Amino acid sequence: MEQFQHYIDGCFEPGSARFESTDPATGAVWAEMPEARAPDVNRAVEAAARALKAPAWRALTATARGKLLMRLADLVERDARRLALLETRDTGKIIRETSAQIAYVADYYRYYAGLADKIEGASLPIDKPDMEVTLRREPLGVVAAVVPWNSQLFLSAVKLGPALAAGCTVVLKASEEGPAPLLAFAELVHEAGFPPGVVNVITGFGADCGAVLTTHPKVARVAFTGGPETARQIVRNSAENLAVTSLELGGKSPFIVFADADLDSAANAQVAGIFAATGQSCTAGSRLLVQASVADEFACRLREKAEAIRIGAPDEMETEVGPLCTLRQREKIQAVVDASVGQGARLLTGGVIPEGPGRYYPPTILDCRKAPKAPVICQELFGPVLALQTFETEAEALELANGTDYAFAAGVFTTNLTRAHRMMRDLDAGIVWVNTYRAVSPIAPFGGSGLSGHGREGGLAAALEYTKVKTVWMRL
Ligand code: NAD
Repeated sequence: MEQFQHYIDGCFEPGSARFESTDPATGAVWAEMPEARAPDVNRAVEAAARALKAPAWRALTATARGKLLMRLADLVERDARRLALLETRDTGKIIRETSAQIAYVADYYRYYAGLADKIEGASLPIDKPDMEVTLRREPLGVVAAVVPWNSQLFLSAVKLGPALAAGCTVVLKASEEGPAPLLAFAELVHEAGFPPGVVNVITGFGADCGAVLTTHPKVARVAFTGGPETARQIVRNSAENLAVTSLELGGKSPFIVFADADLDSAANAQVAGIFAATGQSCTAGSRLLVQASVADEFACRLREKAEAIRIGAPDEMETEVGPLCTLRQREKIQAVVDASVGQGARLLTGGVIPEGPGRYYPPTILDCRKAPKAPVICQELFGPVLALQTFETEAEALELANGTDYAFAAGVFTTNLTRAHRMMRDLDAGIVWVNTYRAVSPIAPFGGSGLSGHGREGGLAAALEYTKVKTVWMRL
């Protein structure tokens, strides 16, 4: 059985306790993980707090911090295959996707490496001739980065990259569901030469490890990605230490197809938009809103494409949909699909748990035209399930699209230019994709509002959010 360790204060250690990790493709235990309890978490935060003030990090120039991040990106690229395989093994995410995502991860570290020495202060044109006022941008402090299981290397890169570029130190908590890739990533942090304590990587369960970390008095910022219920707890926790929080949460993103769209391109984007990552993606386009005049034709194309998807072992390159990460997730999905069918939704394909080992769930499409209140329309399932609804007019499409408490992403497929502009203006979403879906870049901010959270990751602004401004008045 493979063994993994925590990385605290520059050292690898086994953790106060251990727990077993299972392979979602087979259900078999394959590795033993360290479990951080309160003493481990406290040591990690103390190490990060010491490193923040220690000359080895504090006296490092921004350019030197950038070089460390650049080296980290190179190492991620060098070990891409190993990291991808570990993520696939521990979370069930297919190897095609984990391999492709590692390239993005390196890009994000490089982008923030380049930004490290571009975080500037300012001099204010104050109206007192004998005074000079300058603004210094200083590191915010110790960051607690808490991530879910679905894309841990990526979701931590969008936190560590800007935090380290800004001069913060970090305690990164990997998800207890599949922590292997981040625990292995810690070896690269060590090899890159970050001073001890600057980056600490631990894992453990939310209720103790997560709670101790996010309430710790020396934590200045909690950068969280996960579900809305946990986010509420994180915000309550922040009443303890008054930490700044950023919350990247879930979504129930509309994918809107007008009759004038290129239907084939829209169908391909919709299939990838919902079934990639076995639907376990915060930006999954899980609500299809299609104009009534083309709904039957479009549904037919989708069903054909969904049924042609190759479901299989996540470590095989031909596999297009793999298992879900957890059994709990699969049970929740099945319950919502069954309840929706009970309310009149019609299964176009999928909807039945396959026989055999592993946590598989088939690509599923539910026609909800006769079940406008079906739970599959409003609940985030985090699985490969698409709810289809129809609309007649643009106004109706908007009303349906915005009729949710989530506001993460939205896709619009149309060849009408002015309609595309009206939609991008009026959709409640942090990201709108027009005639494309799921494009990401380190340069482009990423995040939602409402039940989808607050704050943005990616881009220059994200790095500034890991700084605090110090105003200096000097009599001349
Ligand atoms: P989750 O909220 O259960 O867990 C996320 C992390 O929070 C885990 O590391 C967990 O251990 C930790 N945690 C749990 N309870 C805690 C507590 N009381 N205090 C501190 N930490 C605690 O989420 P999940 O089920 O692992 O992931 C699925 C959710 O993540 C979905 O809602 C999905 O949409 C969301 N997600 C969002 C994005 C995004 O970028 N917005 C990306 C991926 C996933």
